[in-house]
Amino acid sequence: MTPPPPVRRTTVGIIGGGPAGLLLARLLHRSGIDCAVLESRDRGYVERRQRAGILEQGTVDVLRGCGAGARLDREGLVHDGIELRFAGRSHRLDFPALTGGRRVTVYAQTEVVKDLIALQLADGAPLLFGAEALTVEGADGDRPAVHYRYQGRVHTLDCDYVVGCDGFHGVVRRAVPEGARRTYERGYPYSWLGVLADVPPSADELIYAHSPRGFALFSMRSPTVSRLYLQVPNGTDPADWPDDRVWDELETRAAVDPATGAAPWKLARGPITAKSVLPMRSSVTEPMRYGRVLLAGDAAHIVPPTGAKGLNLAAADVTVLARALTHLHTTGSTELLDAYSATCLRRVWRAEHFSAFMTTTLHTAPDQSPFDTRLQLAQLDRIATAPHAAAELAENYTGLPLPAVPAECSSR
Ligand SMILES: Cc1cc2nc3c(=O)[nH]c(=O)nc-3n(C[C@H](O)[C@H](O)[C@H](O)COP(=O)(O)OP(=O)(O)OC[C@H]3O[C@@H](n4cnc5c(N)ncnc54)[C@H](O)[C@@H]3O)c2cc1C
Repeated sequence: MTPPPPVRRTTVGIIGGGPAGLLLARLLHRSGIDCAVLESRDRGYVERRQRAGILEQGTVDVLRGCGAGARLDREGLVHDGIELRFAGRSHRLDFPALTGGRRVTVYAQTEVVKDLIALQLADGAPLLFGAEALTVEGADGDRPAVHYRYQGRVHTLDCDYVVGCDGFHGVVRRAVPEGARRTYERGYPYSWLGVLADVPPSADELIYAHSPRGFALFSMRSPTVSRLYLQVPNGTDPADWPDDRVWDELETRAAVDPATGAAPWKLARGPITAKSVLPMRSSVTEPMRYGRVLLAGDAAHIVPPTGAKGLNLAAADVTVLARALTHLHTTGSTELLDAYSATCLRRVWRAEHFSAFMTTTLHTAPDQSPFDTRLQLAQLDRIATAPHAAAELAENYTGLPLPAVPAECSSR
């Protein structure tokens, strides 16, 4: 296919073609708002990048509402709960019972991205792959501009608004003067070794395992592909983890003690097709708007993946933003746009809290004392035995309700 020509003028310039940028483009297109997406990588890279896999109900509803739900509805795996393992025990959390009917859907981020790209290329606004934003200028003026490299030359895209959906390492955040933004951060003294394996998952639902040897998570991408994670020290080289070591460690960390009444469990092993180490970080940049530059998704905030919130927060941000830009387009009022940052940050900090809670409750820090471990086990026991504690986890995991997709966005 011939690559599209450079774009020089648009209403909303979207930097980054990950889930946030692609979903925003879709929502704006359906509202009749002109936009263009610049993505620095090529299509194949973006479609293959292994990341999130758990969609909150609200994210599923937004994807459906903007026409990206057909394959998700066919292939997504609806999950009604998760299993917690600790101290040899196994405890299932029943989400619909605890939350009044909410569930999550397992559908890989790679598939969400593929669906959105296909729609965008079929009938959407320009989506330029291999277009790297270099700088953004004029954030506090009326006509911000993005300078970008595309097909070996530097071009300028003039916009009414620029939205940074360019992830944690993106450039748009830097368009906000240092004195006008503040970043709140926390690091963690451990990482995840993530593996993909061509083997059916060993359980129907996700298993979150606390163990004296560290955390383990048993997840899946499809009925035939497992996605598995092990807590490892920062700086771990995946080469130090041959396949047998990965499987042995997963099995040991999730072992149950039949004396606790837990049902026997056997881990299915198979060929490992990918292995990578992911550092963990919490970070929020405030505010999420400066003049005519807005930030959304990982460009504004990062969560450790334990709470499965990153992709869902990105979807929530751009839903709020699409509503605000649609309101401006149809009424001329900037009221919702002015509230964008505060509206998003409330949800962002709730998700930050939950993600940090899940992470610190389930992982074993290198300097963790036996006292700290007892506190973790007391918390997990509380979740397993007190419905209010279980409901708190289930409500956060399945996600707070999203603002409704603007009628204008879903009507076309
Ligand atoms: C291992 C792992 C597991 C995860 N699991 C979950 C989960 O279960 N549930 C969940 O909700 N979240 C999860 N997350 C988080 C989730 O993947 C991210 O939060 C999500 O990708 C954010 O989407 P985004 O579009 O904001 O950013 P990104 O996906 O990072 O997209 C940003 C895009 O911008 C492009 N870009 C960057 N710089 C430029 C530039 N200068 N010019 C043009 N383009 C640029 C990048 O190439 C990229 O395509 C996980 C993350 C990881 C790493």
